[in-house]
Amino acid sequence: MNTQAGTVTPMMAQYLEIKAAHGDALLFYRMGDFYEMFFDDAVAAAEALDIALTKRGKHMGQDIAMCGVPVHAAESYLLTLIRKGFRVAIAEQLEDPAEAKKRGSKSVVKRDVVRLVTPGTLTEESLLDARRHNFLAAFSELREDCALAWVDISTGALSVLGCERLALGPELARLTPRELLVEDSMEQALGEVTEGFDLSVTPLHRGAFDSAGGAKRLAALWQVASLDAFGSFSRAEISAMAALVEYLELTQKGKLPLLRPPQQEARMSAMRIDAATRRSLELTHAMGGGRDGSLLHAIDRTVTAGGARLLERRVASPSCNLDTISARQETVAHLVGEDRLREDLRRHLRGAHDLDRALSRLALDRGGPRDMAAIRATLDVADEIGALAEGRDLPAPLAEAVRDLSGHAALHELLDQALVAEPPLLARDGGFVASGYDEELDEARRLRDEGRGVIAGMQAEYAAETGIQSLKIKHNNVLGYFIETTATHAAKMLAPPHSERFIHRQTTANQVRFTTVELNEIETRILNAGGHALELEKRVFDRLKGSILDAAGPLGQLARALSEIDLACGLADLARGADWCRPRLDDSRAFHVEAGRHPVVEQALRRAGESFVGNDCDLGDAPLWLLTGPNMAGKSTFLRQNALIAVLAQIGSFVPAAAAHIGIVSQIFSRVGASDDLARGRSTFMVEMVETAAILNQADDRALVILDEIGRGTATYDGLSIAWAVLEHLHEVNRCRGIFATHYHEMTQLAAKLDGVATATVAVREWQGEVIFLHEVRRGTADRSYGVQVARLAGLPASVVDRARVVLQALEQGESEGPGRGARQALIDDLPLFAAVPPAPQPGPAAASPVEERLRGVQPDELSPREALELLYELRGLLPSASS
Ligand code: ATP
Repeated sequence: MNTQAGTVTPMMAQYLEIKAAHGDALLFYRMGDFYEMFFDDAVAAAEALDIALTKRGKHMGQDIAMCGVPVHAAESYLLTLIRKGFRVAIAEQLEDPAEAKKRGSKSVVKRDVVRLVTPGTLTEESLLDARRHNFLAAFSELREDCALAWVDISTGALSVLGCERLALGPELARLTPRELLVEDSMEQALGEVTEGFDLSVTPLHRGAFDSAGGAKRLAALWQVASLDAFGSFSRAEISAMAALVEYLELTQKGKLPLLRPPQQEARMSAMRIDAATRRSLELTHAMGGGRDGSLLHAIDRTVTAGGARLLERRVASPSCNLDTISARQETVAHLVGEDRLREDLRRHLRGAHDLDRALSRLALDRGGPRDMAAIRATLDVADEIGALAEGRDLPAPLAEAVRDLSGHAALHELLDQALVAEPPLLARDGGFVASGYDEELDEARRLRDEGRGVIAGMQAEYAAETGIQSLKIKHNNVLGYFIETTATHAAKMLAPPHSERFIHRQTTANQVRFTTVELNEIETRILNAGGHALELEKRVFDRLKGSILDAAGPLGQLARALSEIDLACGLADLARGADWCRPRLDDSRAFHVEAGRHPVVEQALRRAGESFVGNDCDLGDAPLWLLTGPNMAGKSTFLRQNALIAVLAQIGSFVPAAAAHIGIVSQIFSRVGASDDLARGRSTFMVEMVETAAILNQADDRALVILDEIGRGTATYDGLSIAWAVLEHLHEVNRCRGIFATHYHEMTQLAAKLDGVATATVAVREWQGEVIFLHEVRRGTADRSYGVQVARLAGLPASVVDRARVVLQALEQGESEGPGRGARQALIDDLPLFAAVPPAPQPGPAAASPVEERLRGVQPDELSPREALELLYELRGLLPSASS
């Protein structure tokens, strides 16, 4: 940069100008084979990427900090920066440095930002998880009218939903977008909702959310006269979509990704599941954050990336629509019964590529020949599946998916003919167009590869034509290619008819040199053949890209159909292999599961060689179950397995049970007592109560509520009272179905008073002071908690376990002493309780050991050193053998 103190070089001026326009992003400034960063950007990037920070020249008397990353390895650095929350603006060189030089030796190569890389706008394969969506969302609030729109630009899928601010948290939990656009004036107000999500919030100016201008812009984008073509959208819905489009134009610098027409999500069409419930049920992420241990991971048998993403979407929002669910179930059921067909389909599907993402990269001009090959391979798969399905009697939804696979014969043939078997990654390297596809290209390549051979062919042709056998075609740097004859033959060439063809160029002492129009042409073509071939390939690439993008709509439908087939095969494979059953779903309030299992726990047990005990759950007559049982008996597992069975049933899957009949569940709530949320500054108990409040305020009679030890995070009687009142409220007001696990055995008395509450317990057997877990849920109540025994199993020191037994005994005794006194009073007056407890048994005087006996008779002062040593040996001999 050679910036001197006090002066600003033209390049630095260019850098500063570009940087000023992208203040909130790190600027990757292209210099040759590197992206360089300067000033504060360099300091931040060097630290984030752990790369060397250097200096380059001075600016205003200060050293300019600099660091850089090689262009060819830039993607992995980008990934790190994005994960660490940076946005990156990529400024490329927009002309050849040689061009710039022509304007004068000091002129600077033109550069500008070609793209802003942000978490929600990634398209590169290496930056994305193939099996997960990467959503960019926008929330718009126009007084009462609010909406959330979201798009995965790597697939072009765009959806929108009316969504008041209260529902924003649950929706963010469902969709887990990486980036959320909000109007700048609302950023702070929404902070409370968005914090706690792994998401960057990007404020946009108000104009980006303009619904009137937005409607026109969106209609133009999808080339329709009015958005009514896709549904009737509220102003907020349009505003949220408009913000997405505005932001995409901004970040992609005018190049819009392929955006599919918007899917308007019907309110209430999906099962409502809030953020805490998702966490607690570990639907798509395990508690630890990863995929392992989640329901999604346990049931994912898909073999394509699109299928995996579809399953993720389904698990995140199970349907409440009976028709939709039945159609999906129908397909899975058919495939469960057709092992051979299912296996064949899966075998073919394994050959499919990520069509959606390939299409999207091509649309954004970030695609290469491999993306086209991926589309070709996927069209192969579509044909194979079409052939497999031919003449079969398939259920309607499956038959429809198969129909969506056809209709691309022309494009398929085009790609087959145009592309080599294994094309290179980048179009600019050439070598991806198959020979025989484009005559001009074949010729260019022939010239490039066989230039000399072509010339040799011409030489033979000219020699035959003129009859001059000694005629040669030669090459030198001054003339390039020329035809040479001896002076003796020259006259023949200079006379008609040959003079019409052969043009004189030079005469030397013994030779005369000629050229022809043809030779000139060939020469230029040979010289430029390499570049020309590349140019032609590029043109072919653009033509192919055009043909592909023209078919983007139906290709997207094809991708979706493949994902549907893959997902149905995956669920069928799972159902078949794990012995799951087809649940019966209807509009009733039934919830009857026979021998249900927890899909994730069962898998883990199976890996350890143990089996899972299936348990029944019938919330028919008594919609609320009060579940008691010892610690570790399997209460939490039972609770969750029933919620998961409802989720599985409503995504159209079979369920891990012997039989199941479920009336559609509109919303699921799952809470575990006492879990901390210290990051949000809430204590254990506060979190528990906030979450419980949410349930009591929202659950309706179609909800399924799973409460695990609510009220545990406070003093016993407070906790018991709250748990009691909550159960009454669920029974009287919410009238939902649910299971309530508790250690408060007192609550079973309540069950007797409420018709809608039944008691159940997880059975254990006690044998020689040890508990044996049977994991069997039975109607009735538990006699006790066995907490002390479980503590012993967990390895608590024996002294603590013994002491606990004593305290427990005293408490139980106090309880039976009647009202007003006993344990209740003792608990209120904490200290007196423990004072009242008999002291822990003191070890009584033990019989003296032989060593002690012997020592007692010893007079140390009377021992000689030798006798003392002998005594030592003698004592050692008296020790019990274990400790000797
Ligand atoms: P706590 O009251 O201490 O929270 P809990 O009663 O909720 O305990 P769970 O956490 O559900 O107990 O289960 C404890 C363990 O028992 C599980 O990790 C699992 O390994 C095993 N388990 C639970 N249910 C079953 C079952 N039905 N069949 C076999 N094993 C089971």
